[in-house]
Amino acid sequence: MNKTSLILLLTAFCLTCFGMNEETRDSVQSRRELVQAESEFAANYARAPRFKALFHYYPHAEEAHVQFDKQAIDFFHKLTYGEGWLMDVTASLADYPYEKLKEYSIVVSLNAAPADSAQRVAFEQYMESGGGWMGFHASAYNDRNTGWPWLNKFLGCGLFYCNNWPPQPALVECETGEHPVTRTLPHTFVAPASEFYQWQPSPRMNSDVEILLSISPKMYPFGLKDVVKFGDFPIVWTNRKYRMVYLNMGHGDEGFIDATQNLLFVNAFRWVVSRDQEGDPFMK
Ligand code: ZN
Repeated sequence: MNKTSLILLLTAFCLTCFGMNEETRDSVQSRRELVQAESEFAANYARAPRFKALFHYYPHAEEAHVQFDKQAIDFFHKLTYGEGWLMDVTASLADYPYEKLKEYSIVVSLNAAPADSAQRVAFEQYMESGGGWMGFHASAYNDRNTGWPWLNKFLGCGLFYCNNWPPQPALVECETGEHPVTRTLPHTFVAPASEFYQWQPSPRMNSDVEILLSISPKMYPFGLKDVVKFGDFPIVWTNRKYRMVYLNMGHGDEGFIDATQNLLFVNAFRWVVSRDQEGDPFMK
């Protein structure tokens, strides 16, 4: 008998002695089956970085956006420890034509969008060819003057419509427990202080979009200076036509103070990467 089997046997014996209920017995049984089903080695150790990710931000954006961007770079940098993957950071996509972009499994837009038409064309080609994207907050901001209809097609929603002000925490609701991005999250949690955008029309009107998280209607009236009184308020979603997740968080210096929200960010990043066209890098 090996050590794991012995521990399971002892656990089962102790639980029986102290009056194990039906549910606990099932759970012990399923864990035992899991142990038996596993191969000799549970972990899958990488011999080389599994993938590359490109982060871009705009250092001259408004201060609260740059605060978030810098914290995001630190946060994701910690996830590279051990060189499981490679992280490149740039302040300009001008250096990344399509031929370079396509080397990356994911592009992460931190409050920044392609700055001119050449950058937009390269990014469009990257996404239309199966590229991966995770965008925060102002990376998706667009209004009448943006002049980039493809961005709306890509996001699956209309223009920026309104926002709460000042930034504040918000009760948010997971709309599905089935999706890999949300299945490890509680049904509701309080997201740290941020400015949140509403869109018109809402991405919910688009049948290709799956809404993952939204601001709870319990928040209405939402805001102290600029008050949002009603409306559909999705803040995290994916457009199934692309390998992407958009997250509206990203304003100020509290974006990474909450473990639940941090887990959401890691889940979203990991999910986009896991659907790489060349196969799931985490299974290699
Ligand atoms: Zn903002």
